[in-house]
Amino acid sequence: MKISLTLKLAIAFLLTTFLTIVIAGVISNYMIYSKFDKYLIDQHKAEENKVIDTISNLFDETNGFSKDSVAEIKRYSDSLNLFIEVKDLDGNVLLNVNNLQSDSNMMTSNMHSMMNNFSSINPSQYSEDNYNLTKNNKKLGTIIIGYYDSSYFNNAALNFKMTLNKSLLLSILIALLLGLIISIFLSKQISKPLKKITITANSIRNGDLNARSTVYSKTKEIDDLIQSINYLGETLEKQEHLRKRLTSDMSHELRTPLTNLKSQIEAILDKVWEPTEEIMNSFYEEVQRLIKLVEQLNNLARLEETNLNLSKCNFDLSYELEKIVLSFKPLYKNNSLDIVSEIAPNIIVFMDKDKIRQVVFNLLSNSLKYSKAGGITKLSLKIEKGNTLVEVKDNGIGISEKDLPYIFERFYRSDISRDKNTGGAGIGLTIAKTIVEAHKGTIKVNSKLNFGTTFVICFSKENSVIKKAEI
Ligand code: ADP
Repeated sequence: MKISLTLKLAIAFLLTTFLTIVIAGVISNYMIYSKFDKYLIDQHKAEENKVIDTISNLFDETNGFSKDSVAEIKRYSDSLNLFIEVKDLDGNVLLNVNNLQSDSNMMTSNMHSMMNNFSSINPSQYSEDNYNLTKNNKKLGTIIIGYYDSSYFNNAALNFKMTLNKSLLLSILIALLLGLIISIFLSKQISKPLKKITITANSIRNGDLNARSTVYSKTKEIDDLIQSINYLGETLEKQEHLRKRLTSDMSHELRTPLTNLKSQIEAILDKVWEPTEEIMNSFYEEVQRLIKLVEQLNNLARLEETNLNLSKCNFDLSYELEKIVLSFKPLYKNNSLDIVSEIAPNIIVFMDKDKIRQVVFNLLSNSLKYSKAGGITKLSLKIEKGNTLVEVKDNGIGISEKDLPYIFERFYRSDISRDKNTGGAGIGLTIAKTIVEAHKGTIKVNSKLNFGTTFVICFSKENSVIKKAEI
């Protein structure tokens, strides 16, 4: 059976409160009672001693107890609820004051009513103490004092103990009530946002990818959960958006050229067209493009699948980048563009050379594809705060804000780049990002439509960057 958070918290809170008070109560009760009981017993003994002294003083060796003496001893017996008997050395009873029976009955019944709430006092037990009757240090007989244990618990003492217990009981009740209120308040504070988050999560699960949680919580863990759920929603929404684009991109990228090829081949078969060399060349180019696309897809799948098996080695990154710039120069020139470099020399890194080359190659190809005539692309390499930074900056067509978050996703191509018919498949940046991240680096983009784009790759210090001078 699943118990709600509110109930669970309330039970835990009440149990803790109850146990704390009971334990504190039992301990403090025990301490107070043991001291208090000792005090009462000592007091009782002192009273008994006083009675013994009085009896000894009132006793006359020849005449025994006078009438007045008996009356005085009886007053003691009455007020202290004592049975008093005095015997001579032969065991003859000289005095017997016994008002105890009736008094103690009254006392006991009095006590019983009080004892309902007062479990620490046991029902009375009769006890007798024997003392010597002495005069001038001479033993003349025995004084027997009988009493009920409870007789020395006078009413004031009983009231004190009862008040103590009552106040303990009252504090238990108040603390439980407060505990209940606080636990309900606390659990509501926790469970309320959780319930709302669950509703949001369920909406997302049921396909409403726009659903977001707007709940505000001061509890850190709950706030983290809200952020995570919202992030999950955003990611799913993006993925859904991409999936839709992917479907249309796939058909656009593969079906269109295949259909073209098919209709052209049909025209040749129907003898409408001559299979001239020019036509065959265009077929060949189209097939080449499709093969390249499939290969790129395959590459990417492999990169992601194997989580990149990097074969790292020490190499001079500055030198490699210079070489790439040189190889791109003619291509840029042919398109009325220019490429320049600002490469800090002798930067040795420990990375997968071919894969890093591929990243830079992809970025420079993009700048080439997405630049306007007369445009300039700059490739720079520098060390900043120990990190290695590679930057590709162009002043080409730029990327719109709406496309920017998606350009690293596979098959994503902005509408403008599609119009340019660059022949790209929207995979180059995905591959670049996968490789950079496999090297524990980051790739960021800054772009403004019609003004240009800058890609910045950063490899951290820890990524075994070594300067040539240090080898
Ligand atoms: P593609 O093969 O289409 O170039 P990429 O993954 O390399 O695929 O790039 C994805 C998209 O990002 C491109 O279609 C283009 O819209 C945009 N893009 C990438 N680099 C640039 C750039 N330097 N300037 C403008 N747009 C760019």
